[in-house]
Amino acid sequence: MTETSNLRNLVWFKNDLRVTDHPALSAAAGGGKAGGQGGAEVVACFCVSVQQWRSHGMGDWRLAFLLRSVHALQKSLQTLNIPLLLVDAPTFAEVPAALADLAGKLAVDQLHFVDEYPLDERRRDDAVAATLAADGISVVRHTADVLVKPGDVLSGQRTPLTVFTPFYRKWLAPAEAHCRSTCDAPQVQTLASVEQRPLPEAVDGVHMTLGADLWPAGEAAAAELLDEFVSSRLDHYGEARDVPSLPGTSRLSAHLAVGSVSPRQCMQAAQRQAIHEPDFAEGAQKWISELAWRDFYRHIAAAFDHVSFGYAFRREMDQLPWRQAQEELAAWQAGSTGYPFVDAAMRQLNATGWMHNRLRMVAAMFLTKHLLIDWREGERYFMSRLVDGDFASNNGGWQWSASTGTDAAPYFRIFNPASQGSRFDAAGVFTRHWLPELRDVPPKYLFEPSQAGVQGYPTPIVEHKFARERALAFFKANM
Ligand SMILES: Cc1cc2nc3c(=O)[nH]c(=O)nc-3n(C[C@H](O)[C@H](O)[C@H](O)COP(=O)(O)OP(=O)(O)OC[C@H]3O[C@@H](n4cnc5c(N)ncnc54)[C@H](O)[C@@H]3O)c2cc1C
Repeated sequence: MTETSNLRNLVWFKNDLRVTDHPALSAAAGGGKAGGQGGAEVVACFCVSVQQWRSHGMGDWRLAFLLRSVHALQKSLQTLNIPLLLVDAPTFAEVPAALADLAGKLAVDQLHFVDEYPLDERRRDDAVAATLAADGISVVRHTADVLVKPGDVLSGQRTPLTVFTPFYRKWLAPAEAHCRSTCDAPQVQTLASVEQRPLPEAVDGVHMTLGADLWPAGEAAAAELLDEFVSSRLDHYGEARDVPSLPGTSRLSAHLAVGSVSPRQCMQAAQRQAIHEPDFAEGAQKWISELAWRDFYRHIAAAFDHVSFGYAFRREMDQLPWRQAQEELAAWQAGSTGYPFVDAAMRQLNATGWMHNRLRMVAAMFLTKHLLIDWREGERYFMSRLVDGDFASNNGGWQWSASTGTDAAPYFRIFNPASQGSRFDAAGVFTRHWLPELRDVPPKYLFEPSQAGVQGYPTPIVEHKFARERALAFFKANM
């Protein structure tokens, strides 16, 4: 500790890679009344747990985005005189000892961090808190990855709500209350005298520039995107959000996944816009309900450990004898199922690391209902490709589509990929963009090109009517 300061505080960053609206940083860095730690020196750290991330299925796009976000965070912290140290802890099990070691070397008084909710993350966080507390360090845990803390939205019987609509009704008032509060900006610190190694530009063979042109990282980029979306596109969100050829959604998911923007900043921005421009109120309400889905799946991950172990939320659905069909799985992954709307979706994912929400539902339902392939295969594949890969939302979305989850689509809800295409890509702009081989197919046949005898595009790997009946029989027989 330097002579001029009373305390030295450590902030452990995880998926909260920002300096604004960050209660742990604010408290550690004496952000006025909320922190009250004026005079403290602050050191920040980030654990590189690449073996664990990979075991959770993290793909290259997400890893590169994470690296860029950590670099951006380091720059933002520099302006506050806060060094960001990297801690090597290949698995979560190694994090408590590694942080205890760092805290000991730096002689820190307090550790501040933001809680996370999937089981491995919770166990890691609890172990860190216990280990450092045993070393006499005061540990302060904060809530910032959700708008309402898991455990605070319960049924009348004080049990977790597992259906979205009642969850949303009870969630809204505390979420709005949370948005009325703010988090003080951290103050510039006395620079701590610690050795700061440069951050690596590549980890596990992945260079941070992968996808950089498509997915600029860091909180300045997130703030720009949020501002642009809220001020110019939020009013049409209700209609445009389902049309993949339009920039109808915010594309903030990767930023929300690594925390370069907070869900509170998102909700506050939407609320402010709705107050200034009443025409935006409906879009704002709809968009906020999507932020509620994000919270909902985090609450589910926090309350139901079996979901983190890879079991179906509805345990009886683990009896389903999913088909083993490697070739069909490979065709789905490559975007060559013979169903243009599904194939365009998969090619968008493979080429950009992102897929539109409507298409995630269509592609996931196709895999689980038309091909009867285990949703965990799809969950894994999405995770390996998505720039916004996020356990709670991905698992929730997959289980919804496969009818095995909370609030899931009933098993007899089976999207017809051709009618989904005609409905949500009526002019075929999105589909033709990703499937140039169908550029000249007449609109009438675009979503069923086999009917027009188109050459150079696969014939459907399964016939829709047959697949639908097979899926209905499969679920009926095994539930
Ligand atoms: C099978 C499947 C897998 C998915 N996997 C992921 C994933 O790994 N990571 C991820 O962030 N989202 C996932 N989603 C949810 C959703 O598709 C994406 O959040 C959304 O497409 C991101 O685009 P956006 O930021 O433009 O969304 P917007 O429409 O602008 O929504 C704003 C934010 O709300 C949240 N959100 C929106 N829809 C959902 C939803 N259905 N569930 C949970 N949160 C939501 C996201 O954080 C999103 O960034 C998945 C959905 C499905 C059906």
